[in-house]
Amino acid sequence: MRPHMKPVLLVSECLAGTRCRYDGSSAEDPFVRRIMPFCEVRTACPETGIGLGVPRPPIRLVTDGSGGALLVQPSTGMDLTAAMSAFCRQVLSDPGSLDGAVLKSRSPSCGISDARVFSGADGPARAGTGPGIFGRAVLEAMGGRPVIHEGRLSNLRLREHFMTSLFTLARFRSAERECSERRSLGPLVSFHASAKLLLSAYNREEGRRMGRLVADGGPGAESAYRAALVRALARPLRTGRAVDALMHAFGYFKRDLSSAEKALFLDSLEDFGAGRTAMGIPGALIRSWIVRFGTAYLDDQIIFDPYPPALAGTEDSARGEAPPR
Ligand code: SF4
Repeated sequence: MRPHMKPVLLVSECLAGTRCRYDGSSAEDPFVRRIMPFCEVRTACPETGIGLGVPRPPIRLVTDGSGGALLVQPSTGMDLTAAMSAFCRQVLSDPGSLDGAVLKSRSPSCGISDARVFSGADGPARAGTGPGIFGRAVLEAMGGRPVIHEGRLSNLRLREHFMTSLFTLARFRSAERECSERRSLGPLVSFHASAKLLLSAYNREEGRRMGRLVADGGPGAESAYRAALVRALARPLRTGRAVDALMHAFGYFKRDLSSAEKALFLDSLEDFGAGRTAMGIPGALIRSWIVRFGTAYLDDQIIFDPYPPALAGTEDSARGEAPPR
């Protein structure tokens, strides 16, 4: 197993523990605190970034009547939309340098899907929910790379998917850098070999196209491969195909395992296939056998070591949405 590259992760500053919310509190998130040492973290607080103080009168999104939203501060009547848009352009001026983002749910600035949108600057009438101004800009800039809010991180499967995509993209970035330093596609070929089982679990068709890109190796192969990798990892893995990949690996050890070990694996695989647990559980058994038997081909497969083991956990809210604010 090789060391994990540090992904570049954009984080809403209040999730990292800064007391920058409108009421002077933080929204420190235990998982964000856990993942931070394994990442190169860039924090941003869009509201203090445009000069609002702490504490500050609340701001809200107000529908503009044509599918968009304005950011206003009802107590002062200020329209903050232009200032926030300028902040977004400044912070996201080099989006290609980011591997992923964790943003605060339900915020009119940082929310990615669930911020309240009101009918007017005053009154309780709601027009629906949507992304905040910064959240929308991050989603557009990231072009399919992983962006999540902290509420979804409490769901084991969504968290596994997020971490797998994040650390795989960081590993690819490192291979891409090596390709340009060595003027060789060798690192890309090695990366693809390591990603084979992962891609077969996520998106087999895209994985085959990526294999052809590597084999053809024409000009622009790395950038076309990067775009395909982002597409392949955009949606969570397909459980049935992940079960196939795990069974394929299990085949390497079958003859060397006791009946009890085989039964333990098959039980955990059944739980994963039925949605009762995440892939990390049967994956950890395979990883332990890779170490025990020194199986070289599997040793480098990303699917069995997708993110730092210290981040693995079984806590699961089984919910995809944020806790009440
Ligand atoms: S949600 Fe975003 S804007 Fe609000 S305090 Fe947190 S980082 Fe700042």
